[in-house]
Formats: sequence, C-alpha cells, structure tokens
Amino acid sequence: MSRQATQATQATQAGPGPDPNPDTRARHVLEFPGGYTRSTGPVIGRFLTGLRAGRVLGVRTADGRVLVPPTEYDPLTAAALGGADEDWTEVGPAATVTTWTWVDDPRPDHPLDRPFAWALIRPDGADSALLHAVDAGSKAAMATGMRVHPTWRADRVGSIKDLACFVPGEGPAEVPALAAEREADDPVTMITVPSRLEYRLRPGTVWNRFIDGMAEGRIRGTRCTTCGKVYVPPRAACPADGLPATEWVDLPDTGVLTTFAVNNVPAAGAPEVPFISGYVLLDGADIAMLVLVSDVPWQDVRLGMRVRAVWVPEAERTRSVKNLRWFAPTGEPDVPFDRFEEYV
Ligand SMILES: [Zn+2]
Repeated sequence: MSRQATQATQATQAGPGPDPNPDTRARHVLEFPGGYTRSTGPVIGRFLTGLRAGRVLGVRTADGRVLVPPTEYDPLTAAALGGADEDWTEVGPAATVTTWTWVDDPRPDHPLDRPFAWALIRPDGADSALLHAVDAGSKAAMATGMRVHPTWRADRVGSIKDLACFVPGEGPAEVPALAAEREADDPVTMITVPSRLEYRLRPGTVWNRFIDGMAEGRIRGTRCTTCGKVYVPPRAACPADGLPATEWVDLPDTGVLTTFAVNNVPAAGAPEVPFISGYVLLDGADIAMLVLVSDVPWQDVRLGMRVRAVWVPEAERTRSVKNLRWFAPTGEPDVPFDRFEEYV
C-alpha cells in the first residue's frame, strides 16, 4: 500500500435544540488521497500499453480462445497466459453488445456526464466481453446484439479510460494522435487508480446515546447483562455471547495505553505527523478503544502509559466523537504489561 487510508467524519444535527429522536447523519469519506498506486504485472501492463496506442489486445488460451480484457491465468485450466508475443492478438475495433444496463443519472466519476449504458462488449475476434460505457444517446437506442465501436482520447496514458467509450455502429474507429510525446515502446508498469468511498451513516439508538454523552464530555459504554463485559464504544449486543448488552455505564476518561502506532502519513482530522494512534483500555472497560495520543513527544510514548482524555472546550462541543480530542499522559506510574496483556 503506497498510501494510508484516511477517514474523515463530520456529524451534523438537523433542527435546533434538543430532540428526543435526533436526525443525525455522519458523512464519511474513506480514501487513499491522490489515488492508489499499484504495479500492473506483465499481462495487464501489456493490455494498458495497447490502449495507450489505441489498440485493444486480447490474450490467447491454449485451446484458441481469445480473452479480453486479458487474464493472467486461464479461468478454465489455470494455465499461465500471455508469456509469449504470439499469445497476443489485436481484437476489434468493432464489437457487439452482449448485455447492458442504462444509467439515467451519471455520477461525478462516471465516464460520461450524460445518460449512458454500462455494457459487456465483445470485440470482434474475442471470445469474452469487457465492461465499458456505450454512448447511445438514449435507452431506446440500446439493444443486446447491437454493433458498436470505440472512441479514443488524445490524452492517452495507459488506462482503461484511454478508451473514452463505445458508440453505435461499425466505425471507423479513428485513433487520434497522442496529445503528449511518449515513448511508444515504453511499457506501462504502474497505474494510479482513484480509491474513494463516500457514505452517510445514520446512528441507531445505541450510537445516538453514545454521542449524546460525548456532547457532555462523558464516555458511555454498555454492559452485557449476561457475562458482565463492558463495551466502549457501546454495542447493542455482546460480541462474546451474542446476548443483549443493554445496561448503560458511564466510564471514567482515564485508562491505559495497550498498543500504539507512530503515524508518518498525514491523515484527515489527525494532528501533524508524526502523530500517535493507539488503543486505550478505559478503567472499567473490557475492550480497548482506538484513539489519538498527544501532548507527549512520540519518542516517549510507551505501552502501559496511563492516559486521560483531552476534551475540546465545552462551548465548542457538538454531538460528535471529535469532542474527545485525544488522550494525554496523566503522569501516573505505568501499568505492568501482565495487567492488560489480554486486551492487546
Ligand atoms: Zn456477554
């Protein structure tokens, strides 16, 4: 992994004043900032190198099938594919739609900003189909079995997006000259792909009560009424025995650091690097909680360190876990490892 996943959380409350059933939604973003960089391997690399040249390449199996996009192994026999030049062949450019679905409302990252079809498209000469967009203008213009051909970008870099989309008809499929000077023989070996997930989370009863406590500078957990274990953040059911954990407990905001990491990659919502993330076992809890640790040089952080929560000033608090800024050392003697080892 070339970059660290970061998670940013923002809680919002709709409507003024206290609400017995607040409509709270947290907007989350989980992403590799700048994209996820990976090596392609020789087979995908050759396919992408072909796309940069405006050609769709397939790989041939031992029994003569041509697979597009190429796979590194034959899905039927598991034999390695694409090891020799003669295993490769150009397919298309004309192709046949084998199945499709219409997209009325394209999302920001979709290949087209107008309604289009996602389709499985089998290029002439291939025995399999690749997934791509068809710009047919309207749903009525789409049909299984319709003939299409690719359109290409001029700013090709060795990406599936070099093939802008497919359009109805046999062609011709013109390939514009590359906009940028490139080494035509320089194979594509690395790609950076976007990796970002946005979602909204609506807390249930248990989480609402937890962040209500956070708004008051209190850390609330739940206790399993069967085995007695205390969970924080709270759970509605005990993960150990599956039974309800319905008894609420207010936990102190002190505990022991059971493990930690020194982070050298910036993360949204975290202090400047290097910053410390770690697990704190609150006094009276039976599970450690993931938190930030600060107000201490990173070289001085150690397992067993006694810590206390640092809260944002009361006037700045919202219904959010962000009220708990981080944990800082209390100065008390360290806790021996054997007292918390089962929580590491
Ligand atoms: Zn239990």
